[in-house]
Amino acid sequence: MKIYGYGKQNISDDDINTVVETLKSPYLTCGPKVKEFEKAICNYTGAKYCVAVNSATSALHISMLALGIKDGDEVITTPITFLASANCARYVGAKVVFADIDKETANISPDEIKKHITKNTRAIIPVHFAGQSCDMEEISKIAKEHDLFVVEDAAHAIGSVYKETNVGCCKYSDMTVFSFHPVKTITTAEGGCVTTNSEEFYKKLCAFRSHGMHKDGEMASDWRYEMRELGFNYRMTDIQAALGISQLKRLEEFKKRRREIVDYYNTNLGLPHLIERDFSNACFHLYPILVESRREFYFKAREKGLNLQVHYIPVHTQPYYREQGYKEGDYPKAEKYYEQCISLPLYPDLTNDDLDEIIKRIKGIL
Ligand SMILES: *Cc1c(COP(=O)(O)O)cnc(C)c1O
Repeated sequence: MKIYGYGKQNISDDDINTVVETLKSPYLTCGPKVKEFEKAICNYTGAKYCVAVNSATSALHISMLALGIKDGDEVITTPITFLASANCARYVGAKVVFADIDKETANISPDEIKKHITKNTRAIIPVHFAGQSCDMEEISKIAKEHDLFVVEDAAHAIGSVYKETNVGCCKYSDMTVFSFHPVKTITTAEGGCVTTNSEEFYKKLCAFRSHGMHKDGEMASDWRYEMRELGFNYRMTDIQAALGISQLKRLEEFKKRRREIVDYYNTNLGLPHLIERDFSNACFHLYPILVESRREFYFKAREKGLNLQVHYIPVHTQPYYREQGYKEGDYPKAEKYYEQCISLPLYPDLTNDDLDEIIKRIKGIL
C-alpha cells in the first residue's frame, strides 16, 4: 500500500547540481548565493529589500526587533497558525492578543482585529492560512487608522497573489515573512526571509541577523566593526540559498500543480473545504477539509496509509498561553474549526492516479 503524507518537497537534479556547485565554491556562507537569492525574492515579489535568514521563526523575531516592539506592547495575531506567529511577540516581551477567524477561509477576521485594539497595540501579524492571502486592504486600513505596524506571516503563501499584487510585495504591510522549511512550497531545508520596502527596516533586519554588527563609514575599509544592538546569528548559508534560487525558478510550476490538485479535490471529493475569495489567486500550501468526528477520521485514515495532519491546534489553548490567561472558549470560531479540520495530501508530485486513490480511501472512511 502506498503511504501518503500531507506534504512533501520536490528536489530536482538541477536543484542538486546547484547545491553541489556551491559546495565546490569558495563560499559556504555569507557569499554571493545569499545575495543572489535575496535579489531573486525581490524580483519575484516586487519588494525592494529582502533579508534571508535561517528560519521563518528567526525572520519573525528580527521583524519584531526591527519594529522596536517591546515589553508592554500588544501584538495581534490569529489562533489558527503555527506557534511561531505568536511566539515572536513573546521573544521581545510583548503580549500576544489573538483575534478570531473568518470561518470560510480560516484567516484572521478584520472585524475581530478591531475588537482587540487597545492603547497598547503596536502591530498586527496576519497569517495567510493555507496559502490564501488575508484581506490585506482591510487590515492595512485598520492599521493606518490606529497607527499600527503590519507584518505578514506568509510562511504558507509564497507564490500567492492578492488583488493583482504578489504576496511579499509589502504594498499593504511593513514586512512580509516567508518560510522555506521542506513542508512549505519551496525549500532551503531550513530557512526563511523578510521582505520590506523600507531602507530603515532593511538595515535593522540585517544588523539583527548578525550580532547587531555594523561596518560602515570610515570602518568600511579596515578591521573595525561596531555592535550597536543585541543581535543574533540567524544567517542563511550559501548552500541553502543555492537550493532556494533553484527552487524559486520552479515556483510557478509548483503553483500550477497545487491549484490543479485543489480543484480536483473540490470537484471529485465534495467535502466541506475552505472558500477562496475573489481577491485571491493562492499558491495553496494546505488543503484542509472539515469532517465530523475528526479524531476517528484521523486514525482510520492512518490505517489506510494516509498520514494526514491537523492545522492547527489553536495557539491560545497551548499550556504556555493558558498561563498567559487564555482559556478554551475564548475564540469559538477557531476552536470549532480546529475540531473538524484535517489536511489532505497536497504536493506537486501527486498524479491524478494518486488523487483518485486518495479520494477512494477517504470515501471508504466516511
Ligand atoms: C512553518 C511556519 C512558521 C515557521 O517556519 P520555520 O521556517 O519552520 O521557522 C511560521 N509561521 C507559519 C504560519 C508557519 O506555517
